[in-house]
Amino acid sequence: MEGGYWGKLLKVDLSRGKVVEEELSEEELKTYLGGRGLAVSLLMREGGEYLHPFDPLCPLIIATGPLTGLVPGSDRAVIAAKSPLTGIYVDECVEGGFGPSLKALGYDALEIVGRSEVPVYLLLTTRGVKVIEAYEYWGLDVISSIAKLTKRYGEHSSVLVIGPAGENLVRYAKVFNDSLRPGGRGGLGAVMGSKGLKAIVTVVKERDKGVRVANLSSFKEALKELTVSERYGVFNLGRFYFLEELVKVGAVLCKNFRARYALDLRSFIFELNKLIKGRTGCRDCEVKCNRVYATPNGSHLEGLDYAWVITLAFNNLIIKAGEAVGLIYLSLNLGLDPTSLGNVIGWAIELFEKGIIDVNFTGGLRLRYGRRELLAELIKLVTYRRGFGALLAEGIVRASRIIGYDSLKMAAYAKGLEAPSLDPFKDPLIALSLMTSNKGADLEEWPFMEKLRPRNVRELAHELVGLRSKINLASSLIICPFLIKNIGNLTKLLNSITGWGEWSEEELLIRGKLIETALRRFGLNSNVSGFSDVLSERLASVGEGTHLSRSLEDALKEYYYLMGWDETGRPLGSIKG
Ligand code: SF4
Repeated sequence: MEGGYWGKLLKVDLSRGKVVEEELSEEELKTYLGGRGLAVSLLMREGGEYLHPFDPLCPLIIATGPLTGLVPGSDRAVIAAKSPLTGIYVDECVEGGFGPSLKALGYDALEIVGRSEVPVYLLLTTRGVKVIEAYEYWGLDVISSIAKLTKRYGEHSSVLVIGPAGENLVRYAKVFNDSLRPGGRGGLGAVMGSKGLKAIVTVVKERDKGVRVANLSSFKEALKELTVSERYGVFNLGRFYFLEELVKVGAVLCKNFRARYALDLRSFIFELNKLIKGRTGCRDCEVKCNRVYATPNGSHLEGLDYAWVITLAFNNLIIKAGEAVGLIYLSLNLGLDPTSLGNVIGWAIELFEKGIIDVNFTGGLRLRYGRRELLAELIKLVTYRRGFGALLAEGIVRASRIIGYDSLKMAAYAKGLEAPSLDPFKDPLIALSLMTSNKGADLEEWPFMEKLRPRNVRELAHELVGLRSKINLASSLIICPFLIKNIGNLTKLLNSITGWGEWSEEELLIRGKLIETALRRFGLNSNVSGFSDVLSERLASVGEGTHLSRSLEDALKEYYYLMGWDETGRPLGSIKG
């Protein structure tokens, strides 16, 4: 093993209280790179795709990559499992100190199986691993848990934690690292909760020390080129630039995808800017793309994801910036994914409007759009699975099956994951992405989408394959997608760190495709009904959807061909083929 990796996996079994170290082979690391790639490989090694997500034997993986802790924008870790929401692969790339700390402790990845009888947290230090009772933390919200654990373990600690939503197995509960900053979706918080695991804490003084760089001089050269691409509006508006694009092309939807929202973004942003108390971001990154917003209750929210704003706030006609920030903060701090939550609530309100459900069903709640107090109440009911909230906590597909009638037809999702409330056909690249993603309706490619436009469908498949490969590389090598200037720079970084020889850009892009193929195999093996590349009826019929359906079918076939899959979207040959 040359530079960039330890070649070590730490395995913890919470049922038996057993901790072991295992070697990771160079072959596995060369094929899957790290992060997302390594996580899906480890999950499949354990047969995770065949197990129930809450089965104690079904692993939770936390993986670093060869760039972790070595370059700006690499203070991240990929957390992965089988999703309790969708039944297929899910991961979150969380920003924070956990990834570099795990790496500095001498591990490339952590695999957790089993279930503790009592609430626990894991403590990882240079002296080893401890499983500690977590009664005093169980039930605390995310920020209080982080504050209490950080106070206990000091400034060199990093805390990976769930909120009450994860403890209560809400199927779209999230995991957080050191703050409420944007991460992923799909219910990883519930997987941690099902294992009785409240948190994982690392304590390590020197996060940057440890793993070797094979060729230091060429690494330093490659590092000089690593800078955020100027074309990204991320410099000026932070992560909000994508929302501006959506508004520009009229893609923001509201009232459960039924209406186009003529939003005056300037006045919303004007109000939002008044809430900004500072700018923050990852260690060593000059961009600091997250703004710190003051919330109405006197707290602070670090960073706003475009999908949270459009789906939890605009979709439900919450248009005052302060109210939007307050509701997003509340849902995150209780441990929920605001995108799935906002989608499910918007859908429930439509059902109420149409008389499919009534006050007897909702426990007396009169569901209406535009009511902040109602949303705040629903957020708490979902978190603690109380009354009507217990149904919404199941996610839109399961809740639809329970309610019946035409409720599933009104649900906007793909592969079981609730969609962000946007019109995917304003730029068909978004539609093809949501259709084909192996994680459900999660538009991961947005950091690479410079301008939204009505594209020629012939170019779609080709573009998507390139973007998807890039996002897989960012999530596997572990680097912020905003900092990927080009694949050439990424290749130079990897070559200099690992000393694996001179990989070409093409070889690296092929790894990105191989990882996508592994995610597809995981989904197909999971045997989930509905693992097909289609949008739900509501999502498919938005705007130009019906009109574009034939062209998208053609783009889909081309996408399969370019990915090396058969005409039904099944991978051909072996993973390395
Ligand atoms: S651009 Fe933002 S998310 Fe990316 S590394 Fe910089 S601060 Fe972190």
